[in-house]
Amino acid sequence: MGPIKLIIIALLLYLGYRLLASDWKKKRDTKEEIHKQDDGPIADVLVEDPVCHKLVPREQAVRLNSQTRGEILYFCSEECCNLFVSQEGEKK
Ligand SMILES: [Zn+2]
Repeated sequence: MGPIKLIIIALLLYLGYRLLASDWKKKRDTKEEIHKQDDGPIADVLVEDPVCHKLVPREQAVRLNSQTRGEILYFCSEECCNLFVSQEGEKK
């Protein structure tokens, strides 16, 4: 066996080790993230869609600054928002 072959084998072993190490680190990071979510307070506030009455996280809801109601309304989807706009004659 020549020295080049030895170097290649050593390189492969090193790369294999690096792959395993990074994979292990990823798994550990994911675990820590889940742990954080378990302990943390609920950041998302649920809001009610006035059209279909579904509860949606405010961060994901479609917002509409309602002129007729004088408040910000939240919808589960663009469709519900459009439905509300056409029902109440709102301007977006
Ligand atoms: Zn809806």
